[in-house]
Amino acid sequence: MMSACQGKPKVCVIGYPVRHSRSPLIHRYWLNRLGMEGSYERVEVVPGDFGRFMDNFGRLGFTGGNVTLPHKQAAYEKCASTTAAAASLKAVNTLWIEAGELHGDNTDAAGFLASLDEDAPGWDRSEGYALIIGAGGAARAIAYALKLRGVRRILLTNRTKARADAVAADIGPPAESRAMCSMPELLAGAALLVNATSLGMPGHPPLDIDLTPLPPDATISDIVYVPLETRLIKAAKARGLCAVSGIGMLLQQAVPGFERWFGVRPSVTPELRQLIEADILASL
Ligand code: NAP
Repeated sequence: MMSACQGKPKVCVIGYPVRHSRSPLIHRYWLNRLGMEGSYERVEVVPGDFGRFMDNFGRLGFTGGNVTLPHKQAAYEKCASTTAAAASLKAVNTLWIEAGELHGDNTDAAGFLASLDEDAPGWDRSEGYALIIGAGGAARAIAYALKLRGVRRILLTNRTKARADAVAADIGPPAESRAMCSMPELLAGAALLVNATSLGMPGHPPLDIDLTPLPPDATISDIVYVPLETRLIKAAKARGLCAVSGIGMLLQQAVPGFERWFGVRPSVTPELRQLIEADILASL
């Protein structure tokens, strides 16, 4: 929502570190293509300074922002009000100032669903359950999203089982947690498999699981987007499964923020996707 008294919207992404964030590239692309006025910059804020930075956010001229690691929970605490998604996840990735107060949303869940709808249409009509590997902030947002969509059974499994237990308890039925050691049996009934761990990113080992037990019509989503094709995505394609990489979620989660700050709902175009893919390839 553009604030009338502020002139040109001034938006930023706040994180630590923040130099790898692709958000400026995405939002500046839309500003350019739509011929709109406004700015989008990176601001690195060390964790101990986040509260003070947010207290001065409006005085620094900012009208909104994205929040990335490690500040999403702290951002939630700072908001006067939040959307239902942010309240459920107790984490905010999108901020805006309205009537002098800070408001927050969490667009990861909507971004995940929009990406699957775009890249794997009909994914939610399959029989079988959704299996999420991971129990961090992203896994929590995805479990919330799948519940919102009406998925009838959601299983979470994670290296640290207690974290999967906690996410399943917070999301509530139909989310349940399972031990990772039962992976082959878990895969056998999965209509959707999601990698929501950091496995597969540069500096991390790949997610090394045998996809053979998966049903032939299963959809695989790997929300890791660096590299563009993880070993999991390659293995899924080699098996002829529908495979969705994380770049779609990255692009789609940006849409609601741009609309709020600049007043126009932007599109995720093939040209934007190519721009971000080229930037990722150049960074490797
Ligand atoms: P997080 O809160 O730090 O959670 C990390 C998860 O990865 C935990 O479940 C952790 O398990 C697991 N993990 C890490 N190293 C592991 C290892 N060696 N073996 C097994 N499990 C391991 O991170 P997050 O915010 O949820 O993000 C997770 C991933 O999603 C990141 O790669 C991030 O880039 C990606 N992401 C993508 C998008 C997108 O738009 N595409 C959006 C958000 C996040 P433990 O609990 O056992 O530590």
